[in-house]
Amino acid sequence: MKEQNYLDNLVGVFGHPAAENPGVVIQEAAFRDLGLERWHFLTIDVDPGKLGDAILGLKAMKFRGINCTIPHKIEALKYIDKVAASAKLIGAVNTIINDDGVLTGENTDGQGFMIALENAGVAAKDKNVVVLGAGGAARAICVELALARARRLTIVNIPKDMALGESLVKILKDNTAVAVDYVPWVGKYNIPAGTDILVNATSIGLYPNVDDKPDIDYDSIAEGTYVQDVIPNPAFTPFLREADKRGLRWQSGMQMLVNQAALNITMWTGLKPDKDVMIKAFEEAMS
Ligand code: NDP
Repeated sequence: MKEQNYLDNLVGVFGHPAAENPGVVIQEAAFRDLGLERWHFLTIDVDPGKLGDAILGLKAMKFRGINCTIPHKIEALKYIDKVAASAKLIGAVNTIINDDGVLTGENTDGQGFMIALENAGVAAKDKNVVVLGAGGAARAICVELALARARRLTIVNIPKDMALGESLVKILKDNTAVAVDYVPWVGKYNIPAGTDILVNATSIGLYPNVDDKPDIDYDSIAEGTYVQDVIPNPAFTPFLREADKRGLRWQSGMQMLVNQAALNITMWTGLKPDKDVMIKAFEEAMS
């Protein structure tokens, strides 16, 4: 007689709104491919102010882990037992791992970005990097780039939220050896000479605003600059089209997304998923 074990292994995402989060598509495809039939990824809408209750529920129902997305990434820090070093610096958690009731917070956004960079054959060490934006994704990316010993980070952000950019600069200066410039983004931004890597870490170009692109002088991007977008949907943004037109090497946010999801799966299951299966599932869902 076959073993009777119908216990479900639960993971998922807490967000608000949560309905458009594509995590389930990628993660469930990987679980099925790995033969993890009783692993399930749940997309859960948690109201702001209710995150503590939701996290208690995680423990009660023995979820193996959870992703946190907007607006819960910072708030989640209050309710966990341990925080990984980079997540502590970033000041935000996007992945929680539940080890028998002990919750550890990680931030795999920046780690996924770094793997995407590495897979493209680009090393961060000693590089000059321009990062557009200073929000959650930018913070994760800047901290990982600094820990990987990039030489200089130039953070370009619209001045309506200067405090956000300045707090990021302070974290980087106080905790890492990277040189940092903060540039208020007023009018068309010229990419400085000597830039090795240019990253769009804003939400510009994300569906449904698919025709939008960052206000920069695209002709100022030097030959040889590597261009990375964080936007996963659509994968080929107007920002990347400008890079492509100029013969620059580029990579879309889909790579970063899939890499961070793969890291989550490994943290939760101990297994390495097939990223091609995950990319295929994402592309099918978005087509
Ligand atoms: P946030 O809202 O925290 O940050 C967005 C940033 O973009 C802020 O710095 C904001 O500036 C800036 N910004 C927005 N609109 C403009 C504009 N018109 N001109 C200049 N700057 C602008 O969002 P996140 O950082 O969490 O997410 C950003 C993007 O990254 C999203 O599209 C998300 O989908 C993507 N992402 C992708 C991941 C992946 O794995 N591929 C992982 C995580 C995020 P200000 O604060 O001043 O408004």
